[in-house]
Amino acid sequence: MLPEGSLAGRVVLVTGGGSGLGRSMALELSRLGAKVAVCGRRREPLEETVAAMGGGAFAQCDVRDPEQVEAAFAAAEEALGPVTTLVNNAAGNFVVKAEDLSPNGWRAVLGIVLDGTFFCSRELARRHIARGGGPAQIVNIIATYAWTGGPGTVHSSAAKAGVLNLTRTLAVEWAGHGIRVNAIAPGPIDTEKTREQLWPDPEVQRAILRSIPAKRFGREEEVANACAYLVSDFSDYVTGDCMTLDGGGWLNKGIFELFKED
Ligand code: NAP
Repeated sequence: MLPEGSLAGRVVLVTGGGSGLGRSMALELSRLGAKVAVCGRRREPLEETVAAMGGGAFAQCDVRDPEQVEAAFAAAEEALGPVTTLVNNAAGNFVVKAEDLSPNGWRAVLGIVLDGTFFCSRELARRHIARGGGPAQIVNIIATYAWTGGPGTVHSSAAKAGVLNLTRTLAVEWAGHGIRVNAIAPGPIDTEKTREQLWPDPEVQRAILRSIPAKRFGREEEVANACAYLVSDFSDYVTGDCMTLDGGGWLNKGIFELFKED
C-alpha cells in the first residue's frame, strides 16, 4: 500500500468507476490524495461512488461516443481542474460462441473497450499537450486473454489485445509529452458481479481455482493497489508495460499433474 498523500496533485478520470474494479480503484486513488471523477452510463452508481469517496465528481458518458467523452472531460475539469490521469476501465463482456456472436454484440464490446479506450486517451492527450505537457498517466485495464486468446469471449479478447497494442504504441508516441501509458491484466477477480454471474456454481469455482497456482481469486484491492502504483511517482520510469495480476494463472501450462493437485 502506498503512503497517504502519494497521489496529491493528480486529477483522475476513471471510466466505469460506478461499479466493481473501477469503483475500487476510484476509492483507493482518492484515499491516496488524488481528486477523482468517475464516468459511466448510469447515474446512480456514479453518485454512490462519489458519496463513498466523500468528494470528487461524476459525468454520465458512453465512452463509445467521442462527443460524450469530450463533455465528460470538460465536466471533470470544471469540477476538479485539469485531468492528469486516466484509468480506462469501462468494459462490456458476455460469453458466446464465436459463430453465434452477432455483429451488434461484436461492435458493442469493441466499441466500449477499444474505441472507448482510444477516444478517452486521445482526449486526455489533446488537452494535456495543449497545456504544454508534464507528468500524466494512463492506466488501461485489460485481461490476460489479450495475449493468450479467449475462447468464448472473442470480442473482448480481440478488443483487449488492441488495447495492449494501444498501451505500447501511445507510450512511445506520448512519452515526449510526459504521458506514461501502462496496462494491468487481472486474472479472475472476486467481485460481487463475478461471484453472481461468472462462478456462482461451486463446481465452476473449483475448476477455475485448480488452474490458478496461487489457489485463490484476486482481490479488488490488489487491482486498486497496482493502479495506484502505476499512477504514482514510484513508477515514474515505467511506460508501455503491462502488470499481470493473476496468481500465475496464464503461465500454468505445464503438463505434469504434480503441480496441479487441488
Ligand atoms: P463491471 O462491474 O461490469 O464494470 C464495468 C463498468 O463499465 C460499469 O461501471 C459500467 O457502467 C461501465 N461501462 C460499460 N459500458 C460503458 C460505456 N459504453 N461507457 C461508459 N461506461 C461503461 O466490471 P468489472 O468486473 O469491475 O471489470 C472492470 C474492468 O476489469 C474491465 O475492463 C474488465 O474487462 C476488467 N477485468 C475484470 C476482471 C474480473 O475478474 N472482474 C478480470 C479481468 C479483467 P454503466 O453500465 O453504468 O455504463
